[in-house]
Amino acid sequence: MREAEFYKKFNDNKVECFLCSHKCIIKNGRKGICKARENKNGILYSLTYGKVAASNIDPIEKKPLFHFLPGGRSFSIATAGCNFQCSFCQNASISQIKDLEQNFNAQTKETSPEEIVNLALKNQCSSISYTYTEPTICFEFTADIAAMAKKKELKIYS
Ligand code: SF4
Repeated sequence: MREAEFYKKFNDNKVECFLCSHKCIIKNGRKGICKARENKNGILYSLTYGKVAASNIDPIEKKPLFHFLPGGRSFSIATAGCNFQCSFCQNASISQIKDLEQNFNAQTKETSPEEIVNLALKNQCSSISYTYTEPTICFEFTADIAAMAKKKELKIYS
Protein backbone atom coordinates (compact mmCIF):
# COMPACT_ATOMS: atom_id res chain seq x y z
CA MET A 1 0.00 0.00 0.00
CA ARG A 2 1.21 3.48 -0.75
CA GLU A 3 -0.24 6.93 -1.11
CA ALA A 4 -1.99 7.28 -4.42
CA GLU A 5 -1.24 9.82 -7.09
CA PHE A 6 -3.87 11.73 -9.05
CA TYR A 7 -6.25 12.84 -6.33
CA LYS A 8 -7.23 15.96 -4.47
CA LYS A 9 -8.24 16.49 -0.86
CA PHE A 10 -11.30 18.30 0.44
CA ASN A 11 -11.62 19.94 3.87
CA ASP A 12 -14.08 17.34 5.21
CA ASN A 13 -11.68 14.40 4.76
CA LYS A 14 -13.27 13.43 1.46
CA VAL A 15 -11.01 13.00 -1.56
CA GLU A 16 -11.57 12.94 -5.29
CA CYS A 17 -9.62 10.41 -7.32
CA PHE A 18 -9.16 11.40 -10.92
CA LEU A 19 -7.08 8.48 -12.06
CA CYS A 20 -9.93 7.27 -14.27
CA SER A 21 -13.08 8.79 -15.69
CA HIS A 22 -15.25 7.66 -12.75
CA LYS A 23 -13.67 10.50 -10.74
CA CYS A 24 -14.87 8.91 -7.50
CA ILE A 25 -15.49 11.21 -4.57
CA ILE A 26 -14.56 9.00 -1.63
CA LYS A 27 -15.49 9.52 2.01
CA ASN A 28 -13.10 8.70 4.83
CA GLY A 29 -12.92 4.92 5.30
CA ARG A 30 -14.43 4.12 1.90
CA LYS A 31 -13.05 2.77 -1.35
CA GLY A 32 -13.54 3.89 -4.94
CA ILE A 33 -15.58 1.92 -7.48
CA CYS A 34 -12.50 -0.13 -8.39
CA LYS A 35 -12.06 -1.25 -4.74
CA ALA A 36 -8.33 -0.74 -5.16
CA ARG A 37 -8.06 2.78 -3.73
CA GLU A 38 -9.15 3.75 -0.24
CA ASN A 39 -9.50 6.99 1.68
CA LYS A 40 -7.85 6.65 5.08
CA ASN A 41 -8.20 9.80 7.14
CA GLY A 42 -8.24 12.06 4.13
CA ILE A 43 -5.35 10.40 2.32
CA LEU A 44 -5.99 8.23 -0.72
CA TYR A 45 -4.02 4.99 -0.83
CA SER A 46 -3.39 2.52 -3.60
CA LEU A 47 -4.15 -0.75 -1.81
CA THR A 48 -2.67 -2.95 -4.51
CA TYR A 49 0.79 -1.47 -4.94
CA GLY A 50 3.12 -4.46 -5.04
CA LYS A 51 0.26 -6.92 -4.60
CA VAL A 52 0.19 -9.24 -7.59
CA ALA A 53 -3.09 -11.17 -7.64
CA ALA A 54 -2.25 -13.28 -10.71
CA SER A 55 0.83 -13.96 -12.78
CA ASN A 56 1.54 -16.26 -15.71
CA ILE A 57 4.08 -16.78 -18.42
CA ASP A 58 2.16 -16.58 -21.68
CA PRO A 59 3.14 -17.08 -25.30
CA ILE A 60 2.94 -13.71 -26.99
CA GLU A 61 0.54 -15.18 -29.56
CA LYS A 62 -2.11 -15.38 -26.80
CA LYS A 63 -2.18 -11.59 -26.72
CA PRO A 64 -4.29 -9.39 -29.00
CA LEU A 65 -1.30 -8.19 -30.99
CA PHE A 66 -0.27 -8.84 -34.56
CA HIS A 67 3.29 -9.88 -35.26
CA PHE A 68 4.77 -8.38 -32.10
CA LEU A 69 7.91 -10.15 -30.88
CA PRO A 70 6.68 -13.40 -32.50
CA GLY A 71 7.61 -16.62 -30.73
CA GLY A 72 8.40 -14.78 -27.50
CA ARG A 73 7.02 -15.03 -24.00
CA SER A 74 5.25 -12.39 -21.98
CA PHE A 75 5.18 -12.16 -18.21
CA SER A 76 1.50 -11.44 -17.47
CA ILE A 77 0.50 -9.86 -14.20
CA ALA A 78 -2.58 -8.34 -12.60
CA THR A 79 -3.54 -6.66 -9.38
CA ALA A 80 -7.01 -7.12 -7.86
CA GLY A 81 -9.98 -4.82 -8.42
CA CYS A 82 -11.25 -3.13 -11.56
CA ASN A 83 -13.00 0.04 -12.62
CA PHE A 84 -15.19 -1.92 -15.06
CA GLN A 85 -17.99 -4.30 -14.14
CA CYS A 86 -18.45 -6.26 -17.35
CA SER A 87 -20.99 -9.06 -17.05
CA PHE A 88 -18.85 -11.29 -19.30
CA CYS A 89 -15.58 -10.86 -17.38
CA GLN A 90 -13.46 -14.02 -17.45
CA ASN A 91 -11.47 -12.85 -14.45
CA ALA A 92 -14.26 -11.80 -12.10
CA SER A 93 -12.69 -13.65 -9.19
CA ILE A 94 -9.94 -11.05 -9.13
CA SER A 95 -11.52 -8.08 -10.90
CA GLN A 96 -14.77 -7.93 -8.93
CA ILE A 97 -13.31 -8.63 -5.53
CA LYS A 98 -15.43 -7.22 -2.73
CA ASP A 99 -13.02 -7.38 0.17
CA LEU A 100 -9.69 -6.98 -1.46
CA GLU A 101 -7.65 -6.73 1.71
CA GLN A 102 -9.01 -9.96 3.18
CA ASN A 103 -9.03 -11.95 -0.03
CA PHE A 104 -5.76 -10.95 -1.59
CA ASN A 105 -3.62 -8.44 0.17
CA ALA A 106 -3.46 -10.28 3.48
CA GLN A 107 -2.05 -13.39 1.80
CA THR A 108 -0.06 -11.80 -0.98
CA LYS A 109 3.61 -11.21 -0.56
CA GLU A 110 4.71 -7.69 -1.36
CA THR A 111 6.50 -7.73 -4.71
CA SER A 112 8.66 -4.85 -5.87
CA PRO A 113 8.82 -3.57 -9.46
CA GLU A 114 12.42 -4.80 -9.54
CA GLU A 115 11.33 -8.33 -8.59
CA ILE A 116 8.72 -8.33 -11.35
CA VAL A 117 11.31 -7.32 -13.93
CA ASN A 118 13.77 -9.90 -12.62
CA LEU A 119 11.12 -12.63 -12.77
CA ALA A 120 10.32 -11.70 -16.37
CA LEU A 121 13.98 -11.89 -17.32
CA LYS A 122 14.56 -15.12 -15.40
CA ASN A 123 11.70 -16.72 -17.34
CA GLN A 124 13.08 -15.57 -20.70
CA CYS A 125 10.21 -13.18 -21.32
CA SER A 126 10.69 -10.34 -23.76
CA SER A 127 7.77 -8.33 -22.44
CA ILE A 128 5.57 -7.72 -19.41
CA SER A 129 1.79 -7.60 -19.89
CA TYR A 130 -0.69 -5.87 -17.63
CA THR A 131 -3.75 -8.00 -18.11
CA TYR A 132 -6.77 -9.78 -16.51
CA THR A 133 -7.94 -6.54 -14.81
CA GLU A 134 -7.77 -2.90 -15.86
CA PRO A 135 -4.19 -1.81 -15.09
CA THR A 136 -4.99 1.90 -14.82
CA ILE A 137 -6.26 1.44 -11.28
CA CYS A 138 -2.81 0.50 -10.05
CA PHE A 139 -1.00 3.13 -12.04
CA GLU A 140 1.66 3.81 -9.42
CA PHE A 141 2.81 0.18 -9.53
CA THR A 142 2.55 -0.33 -13.28
CA ALA A 143 4.42 2.92 -13.98
CA ASP A 144 7.26 1.94 -11.64
CA ILE A 145 7.52 -1.49 -13.29
CA ALA A 146 7.52 0.09 -16.74
CA ALA A 147 10.34 2.47 -15.82
CA MET A 148 12.44 -0.41 -14.53
CA ALA A 149 11.56 -2.67 -17.49
CA LYS A 150 12.65 -0.02 -19.97
CA LYS A 151 16.15 -0.03 -18.50
CA LYS A 152 16.31 -3.79 -19.17
CA GLU A 153 14.87 -3.42 -22.67
CA LEU A 154 11.71 -5.31 -21.83
CA LYS A 155 8.56 -4.22 -23.65
CA ILE A 156 5.39 -3.35 -21.78
CA TYR A 157 1.83 -3.52 -22.97
CA SER A 158 -1.66 -3.78 -21.58
S1 SF4 B 1 -9.24 4.63 -10.20
FE1 SF4 B 1 -10.77 3.72 -8.83
S2 SF4 B 1 -11.04 5.22 -7.18
FE2 SF4 B 1 -10.00 6.27 -8.87
S3 SF4 B 1 -11.66 7.23 -10.07
FE3 SF4 B 1 -11.24 5.23 -11.01
S4 SF4 B 1 -12.69 3.79 -10.03
FE4 SF4 B 1 -12.62 5.65 -8.75
